[in-house]
Amino acid sequence: MTDAKPADGQTFTLPPLPWPKEAFEPNISAKTFDFHYGKHHKAYVDKANELVKGTDLEGKSLEDVIVAAKKKDNGPLFNNAAQIYNHNVFWESMSPNGGGAPTGAIAAKIDEAFGSFDTFKEKFVAAGVGQFGSGWVWLVLNGGKLEIVKTANAETPLTDGKPVILVCDVWEHAYYLDYQNRRPDFLKVFVEKLVNWKTANDKLAAAK
Ligand code: MN
Repeated sequence: MTDAKPADGQTFTLPPLPWPKEAFEPNISAKTFDFHYGKHHKAYVDKANELVKGTDLEGKSLEDVIVAAKKKDNGPLFNNAAQIYNHNVFWESMSPNGGGAPTGAIAAKIDEAFGSFDTFKEKFVAAGVGQFGSGWVWLVLNGGKLEIVKTANAETPLTDGKPVILVCDVWEHAYYLDYQNRRPDFLKVFVEKLVNWKTANDKLAAAK
């Protein structure tokens, strides 16, 4: 997704969704994607393009802009650019054929770090529920071992140099139309039915 080319004169692009927006009914509605992707994600791309224009970061890669904006303490550019990246990873973290128990190398890494897949699911949901206000819950590598981390607002493990395996968006806009205030239910559905273990394995392999 992150390979999609920006329009002429733009630094950032809104990558196409990797699946049809109806693909997750009834777990996530097409209407949620209309707003979440079509309005929220698009707005971060538009705003980041506006903010980067004429700065020394114009034309740089998304990842480079995020790291540099954080270092320069450029809050508005960091927030919008990081939200582009976080959403790109979120869409990649889900598949209409996803969910179930992990397979391949990621399954062994989960057992190694958490003892069992059931414990991983419990801890992932608890981390997402425990994130006060808006944010994200991530599965990352830290020193070669899997770790669950949560971040507030647009914060991203990218700036800590921790390779990202998957992420779930726990901003209310991610689930409110389908689950209202029931964030735990949304997180359970994500971790049990939606996770794309193939891309998780791809990201694990690429991180080595
Ligand atoms: Mn979001």
